[in-house]
Amino acid sequence: MEEKEIKDYKQAGEIAKKVIAYAKELIKPNMPLLEIAQKIHKKINELGAEPAFPVNLSINEIAAHYHPTLEDDTKASGLLKVDIGIHINGFIADTAFSLDLTSDNKYKELIKASEQALENSLKILNKNPTLHQIGEAIQESIESKGFSPIVNLSGHELAQYKVHAGITIPNYANNNENKIEKGAYAIEPFATTGQGQVYEGGTSNIYSVIKPKNTRSPISRKILDYVWEKYQTLPFSLREIQEKFGPMTRLGIKELEQAGVLHNFPQLIEKSHKPVSQAEHTFIKTNKGIIITTQ
Ligand code: MN
Ligand code: MN
Repeated sequence: MEEKEIKDYKQAGEIAKKVIAYAKELIKPNMPLLEIAQKIHKKINELGAEPAFPVNLSINEIAAHYHPTLEDDTKASGLLKVDIGIHINGFIADTAFSLDLTSDNKYKELIKASEQALENSLKILNKNPTLHQIGEAIQESIESKGFSPIVNLSGHELAQYKVHAGITIPNYANNNENKIEKGAYAIEPFATTGQGQVYEGGTSNIYSVIKPKNTRSPISRKILDYVWEKYQTLPFSLREIQEKFGPMTRLGIKELEQAGVLHNFPQLIEKSHKPVSQAEHTFIKTNKGIIITTQ
């Protein structure tokens, strides 16, 4: 990894830490998800960066992939996962936390389980563990508290303008004996009281460009020009496009989706519809060792 790249990863991490602190201060029970999404986006811009993906605001059994549209009146409640991505020149910081918004703190232990799993997996990185060993640390931490890890969600490698690149980091003790090479990675344990798997549900209102190409309507062309210039292959929100292009947005997005230009990310929902907690940090592995950029 080049010095410039390391610098950008670190800078993205520094900004992510500030945005996380801001979000923890900002979010209150019953606040509209739309307001949270808009304020977090604004904060990222004020700090001189762009989102690497739209902030994911996922409630209860939705493990990941939810962002409100302009018409969405969903309020923050229950067990809320806040997953934030920042990029500097395409180099990404990916970090998440969970909030218990219930009056009786009923998700406290479930949240602790994913946080503890993350901490325990980060702690062994200096021992050059196999992917199996990282997964084992996560699984044992979560199961020791009586919960289950979500086995079909995983941590991942990061690359320039790619949130999911190369290897995946398991949330359970799989049989992958490979070690982590130099590069950037996110570890993200998910803990649940349910069976520990997710399925793909309805739209997250998050999209990414798969393959830019010309479409018929002016609105679809304008949207593609805008998102390609700003995000390339990184995910973006329908909400941002609605704010920029107004009521014609959905038509343009639909045309781009049908033409195979855009991918629409589905919500990831726990199979037994039980609540899910998440914790996540990004680290880089360089010649000088491990740096956790978002902690
Ligand atoms: Mn994330
Ligand atoms: Mn991630």
